[in-house]
Amino acid sequence: MAKSLLIVDDSATMRKIVIRTVRMSGLDFDRTEEAGNGAEAIEKLKQSPVDIVLCDVNMPEMNGIDMVKKVRAELPTCANTKIIMVSTESSQDLIDSILREGANGYITKPFTPERFQEKLSPFMN
Ligand SMILES: [Mg+2]
Repeated sequence: MAKSLLIVDDSATMRKIVIRTVRMSGLDFDRTEEAGNGAEAIEKLKQSPVDIVLCDVNMPEMNGIDMVKKVRAELPTCANTKIIMVSTESSQDLIDSILREGANGYITKPFTPERFQEKLSPFMN
């Protein structure tokens, strides 16, 4: 069954790379949206929840950690939304704390289509 995806990153170029990598991974999304920071993502999710969010950590206005906290605390319509962080930040402490806040996975940059396939396919059923 096709799923919906929201890509959150302050770099438009990185969003394009993520979109291309998702396509190469063979995962099937019927709707893909983009947001430039956590606040923009929250607004989009309020309008229309998605199945999976791929989210950068370091972003202006609202970073990825604050976004995860806010989605989990304030958006019950997104209770089933899976949030996968995509970041160059690879400290285990940071990863652990983001997962504790309610993120469902973590992919470090640079990434491959195989990595996306591995991390996202459990949530594609
Ligand atoms: Mg960034």
